[in-house]
Amino acid sequence: MDSRTKTTINRRLFTSGVIGLAATSSAPAASQPANLLPARSDISFSPRMGADNRHGDPFEIAKTFHANRIDWTYGDAAFIAECVARGFAVGAALSPTMSRPDGDISDRMRDKSGQPVTAPWMKGWQGGRAYWGCFNNPDFRSLILGRARAAVAAGATRLQFDDAAGNYGAVAWGACWCAACRAKAAAQGVDLETGMKRFQLASVRDFFQGLRDGLPANILLSSNNGAIDWNPPYDLFDFGVAEMDEAQVNPQYLFNKFAAIESAGKFQFVTLRSESVDLNRRAIAMIYALGGGVIAPWDVFLRPNGAGSDRFYGAPEDYADQLGVIRQNATWFDDFTLEAALGTGVSRRPDLLQASGPVDLAVLRRAPDGRLVLHVVNASKAAKVEISVKTVATQAQFAATGAPIPYNGRSADGWHTLSIPPDRIWNMALVKQ
Ligand SMILES: [Zn+2]
Repeated sequence: MDSRTKTTINRRLFTSGVIGLAATSSAPAASQPANLLPARSDISFSPRMGADNRHGDPFEIAKTFHANRIDWTYGDAAFIAECVARGFAVGAALSPTMSRPDGDISDRMRDKSGQPVTAPWMKGWQGGRAYWGCFNNPDFRSLILGRARAAVAAGATRLQFDDAAGNYGAVAWGACWCAACRAKAAAQGVDLETGMKRFQLASVRDFFQGLRDGLPANILLSSNNGAIDWNPPYDLFDFGVAEMDEAQVNPQYLFNKFAAIESAGKFQFVTLRSESVDLNRRAIAMIYALGGGVIAPWDVFLRPNGAGSDRFYGAPEDYADQLGVIRQNATWFDDFTLEAALGTGVSRRPDLLQASGPVDLAVLRRAPDGRLVLHVVNASKAAKVEISVKTVATQAQFAATGAPIPYNGRSADGWHTLSIPPDRIWNMALVKQ
């Protein structure tokens, strides 16, 4: 963790939907300076191809999802500038498939026979020419740095890299034996027959260090760390913006991932590859309870389809209530850290948090000033559940669209017990002393 990241963590202000024990606070948080890690109340939006109006004006749609930032767009400099003009902090996207407009492919990765390389799922993309640039090729490095600098000049404050494993990931497809890789390996005394994977992992690290060195120090880098993978090389990035599959909408999986991310001082956005409204809502509830954030379910990559990808454009009205509560109660999110949790396959600090019966996920989070927020996600909605929080607090309030709703549970023996209604997928309460 570098000093910039540490500063960011210290300056966080809150977290997401939870039942908590806290002083008070209902004023919306000020927008976070653009060079800090995302706030835990941030809702991201990804108009992937930029100024593409086929599904409506992306800026107007972003507002209906309560999104307050844009990440991962391949829009050009004019689009980046428009994002800024419309009031969105924006992150521009980069990827190994970016290439010279004149069609020159001399900077692409090569297999051992000298053929350019692409990912298996991209073979039909870009007219069969979605070849990946080589991270060791000086021309590709300057192409990406040029794109990055143009985006920053237009107002981007961070850069999202898709397929960031680059040369390392492409080892499985026979890369990379290009002249630049051969020369670099020879200079290092590396035998590519036996040392390719380790050499290319180091090459990816060099590439992103070079990119950072060529950009202002306050520009953050994020990656598509699919399935929330923080193993190398994804550990190189300040935060993740991950594609995630339906099977990963699982309390135990998400708790383990997000607890580790929080400990490491990182941050994670997720974009869920699912058309299910119910599953998207469940994921939103669990991820914000665990201190992460989502890209609103619109223009979501579902699967490759030969020439491109199938995408999901969710209806804002299916999510606006839930996402609106997050933004309206931003001060219940940003500055909070994990205190205790329970649920399916989850148990953290049972001395602080108990449930009367089965619950998918309950998370207790604490602010530096002692406020507590409790999030309860109960997708089965089967029955009322009682959650007990170890605290001397005797008052609580539930988050709602509009003003929070006062609620007093039972206090006894140093525990405050709240009865959670069965009819909502997500409850968030702030407990007051
Ligand atoms: Zn190469």
